[in-house]
Amino acid sequence: MPRDQYEFSDPTTRYPNTSPEPQQQPEPGLESRMDPKPDHGEDSYRGTGRLTGRRALITGADSGIGAAVAIAYAREGADIALAYLPDEEEDAQRIVALIEAEGRKAVTIPGDLTARNYPAALVERAVAELGGLDAIVACAGKQHWQAEITDISDDQLVDTFTVNVLSLFRLVQAALPHLEPGSTIITTASMEAYQPAPDRLDYAASKAAINNFSKGLAQQLIGRGIRVNVVAPGPTWSVLQVSAGVDPETLPGFGSSESPMGRPGQPAELAPAYVFLASHESSFVAGETLNVNGGMVTP
Ligand code: NAD
Ligand code: MG
Repeated sequence: MPRDQYEFSDPTTRYPNTSPEPQQQPEPGLESRMDPKPDHGEDSYRGTGRLTGRRALITGADSGIGAAVAIAYAREGADIALAYLPDEEEDAQRIVALIEAEGRKAVTIPGDLTARNYPAALVERAVAELGGLDAIVACAGKQHWQAEITDISDDQLVDTFTVNVLSLFRLVQAALPHLEPGSTIITTASMEAYQPAPDRLDYAASKAAINNFSKGLAQQLIGRGIRVNVVAPGPTWSVLQVSAGVDPETLPGFGSSESPMGRPGQPAELAPAYVFLASHESSFVAGETLNVNGGMVTP
């Protein structure tokens, strides 16, 4: 494990190839029960004031990539509102403690993104508790593998598109009146948006929709001084994978077969992309998709 995110090392061996033992949890899963545990940068992310005074709302902030982003943003000087499912309280409280250890504010607003009114309520509470909002990071996502299209239940289909796509529209609709020029919106697509795996058709299609939506929204909002960008992760070790995200039989080789680096990424390796796109060092970047996928080729 690197000393911090700036340490010089060979990227192919910077983190071990996880080769996880078979393990499975019901959705959405608890990271605290994973083996091995993902690295969120708990012991390594070093902040340098890049988001001083910012107020960020992060969905899916309890675990995985969203949790790594929350830790990084707090260490860069931001206060955070964390959104996640009520069942994930245990994971969320661990991240809250890390944010508070930085002397930053952590506001927990659990809820279900399939509920039509939750995105607006989430924004209102985040604004009230943080005294405003200038960064939205959408990291929540639903992924449930199914071998055949006929295996995808209508409930799964609707929930996948509601969590991944519809809630994003609702979140932005609610947040926009509060966002001053300089604010940033970052969404989370996937390399599945370009290279859909045959056993997650609903998920991959929703990720392509997120990428497309974000590029259109970026054009709509740039005149208001609001930048919209996308991060597209490749295979990343997180609880999503062991709670029906992928076929359990493929878990032992997770990330090592698809990624040219021969290993999965860690959430800690995704966080710097979200820091860059929120910070004003990316002031001339809008409508961009930053692929963080271990070298997989994208259009
Ligand atoms: P994760 O399980 O740690 O995070 C996903 C989060 O989504 C959960 O913690 C949960 O809080 C939230 N969520 C799911 N359903 C919800 C609902 N109904 N209401 C509210 N919140 C809900 O997994 P992760 O891998 O860190 O995923 C983060 C994002 O990265 C997702 O959008 C995922 O699609 C994307 N992504 C992950 C990978 C990967 O390999 N891990 C690859 C590409 C894209
Ligand atoms: Mg979680």
